[in-house]
Amino acid sequence: MASDVLLAADGHWPRLLTELAGLSPEQLQDRHQPCPACGGTDRYRWDRDDGPGGWYCNQCGGRERSGGGGSGMDLLLRVTGWDFATAARHLEAHLRLEQPKPLRAALPPSCRSAASGAPCLLGWPAGFCCPHAAPLAKSGAGIPSGVAR
Ligand SMILES: [Zn+2]
Repeated sequence: MASDVLLAADGHWPRLLTELAGLSPEQLQDRHQPCPACGGTDRYRWDRDDGPGGWYCNQCGGRERSGGGGSGMDLLLRVTGWDFATAARHLEAHLRLEQPKPLRAALPPSCRSAASGAPCLLGWPAGFCCPHAAPLAKSGAGIPSGVAR
């Protein structure tokens, strides 16, 4: 969902624009300078790092592209020339890289095969049964929350 992507990107726009659109840190400063999208000398400034990000260009900014402000997503679209769906795909792929790996993926292969197969005799959820569950329980970690029972 595109709205999920925007939610996930919230607060990360300076970094995302650097990494996906190739903007320099200077172009993400709140001072007048050439616009990354349409050039000029001092028509543009970045003005919001948090939330959806924000910038202003009195040449190409705004909904009508005749001067005004926009979000980080607006600037990404304008600088890269991507349409919204393409940008959303790039963001999704980019943001996913940084999420921690699911706990189950860190379990030994034998346990993962158990997760897809027979139910645990002790009633542990799939993926946390038998030899692998015991050390988890002993260490006080217990069954990680969020694991479907
Ligand atoms: Zn511009």
